[in-house]
Amino acid sequence: NYAVELKGLTKTYQASGKSEAKKALIDVDLAIPRGSVFGLLGPNGAGKSTMINILAGLVNKTSGSARIWDLDINSDTRQARAAIGVVPQELNVDPFFTPRELLELQAGLYGVPPRERQSDEILAALGLSDKANAYARTLSGGMRRRLMVAKAMVHNPPVLVLDEPTAGVDIELRQQLWAHVRELNANGTTVLLTTHYLEEAEELCDQIAIINHGRVIACDTTPALLARL
Ligand code: ADP
Ligand code: ADP
Repeated sequence: NYAVELKGLTKTYQASGKSEAKKALIDVDLAIPRGSVFGLLGPNGAGKSTMINILAGLVNKTSGSARIWDLDINSDTRQARAAIGVVPQELNVDPFFTPRELLELQAGLYGVPPRERQSDEILAALGLSDKANAYARTLSGGMRRRLMVAKAMVHNPPVLVLDEPTAGVDIELRQQLWAHVRELNANGTTVLLTTHYLEEAEELCDQIAIINHGRVIACDTTPALLARL
């Protein structure tokens, strides 16, 4: 019983126009324990976003299987979708809506009944209570990032995925985001994050998988993995 389980996962992007076919993931096996903070570490182009986009349903796998909380993403798509929240790399926040409105909208998309919605609690957990009713265009970059995390949490998924959560973020904000990740994990959420900073994986993760050219080349607990580097 894992939070995420990948078996033989392979993704080949088809050739189109002048671009050649590209093997972005090759026969990836990965088992992410429930309750952990798991880091997917690798350089640009390694295949990290492809893996996350497959879990998020944005990219179709070529072969192999992917299960989220024991639900197959292809045969139990709806249930698998309910079990995962994905924070994309881009800060695509609608500027003319407030955080509370955006969370309500997202909750509606996920079919969370109004009486079960916890927008205020989620905004508080991410330090956004003061901005709950402010237009998103008035939020700082750091607040927008935290709003993206809040949006991914509205349906209370057991698994939260963060794609490069601190890419291009200053040191102060990075530490603030790390604190929020730890807090979400302490409250029971399994966290899967991608990063190309070893320091970030070392700081946050219980286990690390190193991915390069579409293959997992090492996977271990953080202390064991660091001892081998
Ligand atoms: P389409 O317009 O066909 O729906 P995209 O806009 O995703 O597809 O991609 C346009 C072209 O750029 C395609 O040939 C695709 O393979 C290529 N492409 C898209 N994203 C990447 C990427 N991250 N790395 C390399 N090639 C990419
Ligand atoms: P990472 O997130 O680790 O930087 P990606 O998963 O974005 O890696 O990319 C893995 C490989 O697949 C790269 O070589 C990238 O150029 C290629 N790629 C990603 N998306 C597309 C696409 N839509 N079409 C073609 N190639 C792509």
